[in-house]
Amino acid sequence: MTFHGAAGEVTGSCAVVEFAGRRVLIDCGLIQGTPADELRNQDPLPFDCKSIDAIVVTHAHIDHCGRLALAVREGFTGPIYATKATCELLEPVMYGSVSVQHIRFQEAQVHNLRSPAGWAVADSEPPVIAMPPLYSNGDVASTIKMLKPLAYGQEVEFAPGFAMRMLDAGHVIGSAMVELTAGTGAAARRVLFSGDLGSSQQALLPIARPPAGGAPIELLVMESTYGNKAHPKPRDVLDKLASIIRHAAKKRERLLIPTFTLGRAQNLLYRLGELSREGRLGMPVYLDSKMAMKSTECYTRHADCLQPAIGNRVRNGDSPLHFDELCYVNGRDDSKKLNRLRGGGIIIAGAGFCHGGPIVHHLIHGLWREDCRVLLIGYSPAGSPAHAMANGAKLVRLGDAEVEVNARIEKMSGFSGHADRKDLMDFVGAMMPTPPRVVLNHGEDAARTELSGKLTEAYGVEVLRPIKGERVEF
Ligand SMILES: [Zn+2]
Repeated sequence: MTFHGAAGEVTGSCAVVEFAGRRVLIDCGLIQGTPADELRNQDPLPFDCKSIDAIVVTHAHIDHCGRLALAVREGFTGPIYATKATCELLEPVMYGSVSVQHIRFQEAQVHNLRSPAGWAVADSEPPVIAMPPLYSNGDVASTIKMLKPLAYGQEVEFAPGFAMRMLDAGHVIGSAMVELTAGTGAAARRVLFSGDLGSSQQALLPIARPPAGGAPIELLVMESTYGNKAHPKPRDVLDKLASIIRHAAKKRERLLIPTFTLGRAQNLLYRLGELSREGRLGMPVYLDSKMAMKSTECYTRHADCLQPAIGNRVRNGDSPLHFDELCYVNGRDDSKKLNRLRGGGIIIAGAGFCHGGPIVHHLIHGLWREDCRVLLIGYSPAGSPAHAMANGAKLVRLGDAEVEVNARIEKMSGFSGHADRKDLMDFVGAMMPTPPRVVLNHGEDAARTELSGKLTEAYGVEVLRPIKGERVEF
């Protein structure tokens, strides 16, 4: 198995597995981060795409699927396996990615024409680099034709003695671990590739469990994004969210919440629904994101993939992701009407890093106001407007505008769909028998190092932390 991405970082997931004369690519994600990081997306993929026999996509987050269409453009001819829900989401995610790449390219060109030295708004922010889109809508259309939807547990044979199943990872709707079986009979061995694992603190999806029984698991490849962190408890998250909303409501402020549209948006909506039912919301909530609405529909369409109690509520016609105060914003005109919002309200919009999507115009119309508040609920890379706001910038570049910051900026965690350190430890602890070797990928080195020490101490396992391009034999 060769780790071509997400080795020592948290985006660009991309690993090639070779067995029985077949080459299978697991994930082909976009690299996100600083402009220098993102520039690496412009390089050709570090393997011959024509030599890849199949691709498996663990879930529809862009850092796991954002370069699929590039693989197709470079000669990959299929098939692409993913769960049914992931296949449904890949289409809007990939077309959305083309659109965001076009807009960012144009804006960066305009910016750099005005300031040829690549001048950044704040000294601490890196310069702007104009990057042409990686692929076209046509490439996305070809990619979609290659999708092969799978049910959880359904087996695919790549070659005699080389098989794969996808198992629920509980991270976002449709997310999967990839279980590979190599060899047959008593000689068979398994490799488990976790993909992103879900958090035990989120309420919507079941907690991921390692597969029981079967051939021994020789190697576990596990994500480690939050390998050195502990998520706050749901009750504390609710109380903090309620407090921020109460302050905003008292001053009749506009509360802007930039969010990732798959996973984090649904975790946020669920918590807002809880506050609504507890009578602690007291403000209208506007969801201004087509992708978040599509993702939310996907959650309710796949009720069988939700936590059983929540799935039952959906089957009985209740919607745990809807509440009385929630309004859906349909289209650009309705979105613009919110610029004249009076009396306060919460606006949830993508993109999470604020480098595109409707949140940009809400920030342009809100960030300069003193009666506005911005709540940041996720990670943001240097160079993104969200990062500038999180770090106290007085001026933020949004699209081709520069906006003074007078709004109050707040930050909180607790909406992540990722397992934290305890969840990851528990996952390994639940494996019977414990795998002799664990590979930590999809995590920065601080997280991997800390988790690695804990895993060896608790379970005596050998832990590998591959660097980009490193090959691990199994
Ligand atoms: Zn993810």
